[in-house]
Amino acid sequence: YFVKAESFNEHSVTLEGDDAHHLVRVMRMKPGDEIIVSDGEGREAVAKLSGLAPGRVEADILELRPVSGEPGWSVTVAQALPKGDKMELVIQKGTEIGAAAFVPFQSERMVVQYDERKEGKRLERWRKIAKEAAEQAHRSIIPAVRPVLGWRGLVASLAQYDSVFFCYEKEGGLSGSGLRDAVRAAASQAADPSSLKLLVIVGPEGGFTEREASEAEAAGAVTVGLGKRILRTETAAMVALACLMYESGE
Ligand code: SAM
Repeated sequence: YFVKAESFNEHSVTLEGDDAHHLVRVMRMKPGDEIIVSDGEGREAVAKLSGLAPGRVEADILELRPVSGEPGWSVTVAQALPKGDKMELVIQKGTEIGAAAFVPFQSERMVVQYDERKEGKRLERWRKIAKEAAEQAHRSIIPAVRPVLGWRGLVASLAQYDSVFFCYEKEGGLSGSGLRDAVRAAASQAADPSSLKLLVIVGPEGGFTEREASEAEAAGAVTVGLGKRILRTETAAMVALACLMYESGE
């Protein structure tokens, strides 16, 4: 059983809330049973249960383990806010595939009306989905889900990354090179190709405007295609991530 600990020090861990409840009531674990715990930030350990109560479980650390579930490349997904609960799908599947973080953002041709008042609740839900997906995928980190950015905020953040891939399909054909060629070029120019910090930007159901594409390019993004077919926004994020994980070899 793989779970994120509420508190984690060299000797012991504590689990609380739903996770503690799940261990006691659903898994029916007993003192002496072993679990694998992560601190959600890259540390992982084998631990032996010592104290069990429905809302709180204590365990003694038997062995700290090297991080196992993390790719060398850190890939952040910037996803234009999609309709309905598609963002949840992007976060859940993206976490399984290996995303390091998610940045929801607003863009011109978004088909949803962004409601700032609902942001706190949505972020809370998105972060819970990232945590559960990270646990089930045996990740050693829980991908961060950042607060929703405006378009300008996103463009201003591009300098933080080694490479930024702007997923763009254009009427009448794809512009730019494919993602594979772009990432190979980025890796071949990197000082340490085994630990790249990458950002993938995916547009909304209505696609990006030409102005957005040229602003992203001016801020350093490379425009890339994801193949000859037009993918739905939530599919595009997963395809881009899967391609990058494949190229990274992890
Ligand atoms: N109308 C569909 C929908 O409801 O989702 C398709 C939307 S597509 C315009 C959404 C985004 O996915 C685009 O802005 C782009 O970032 C990405 N995308 C989809 N297919 C792509 C492709 N073949 N190459 C590059 N990006 C693509």
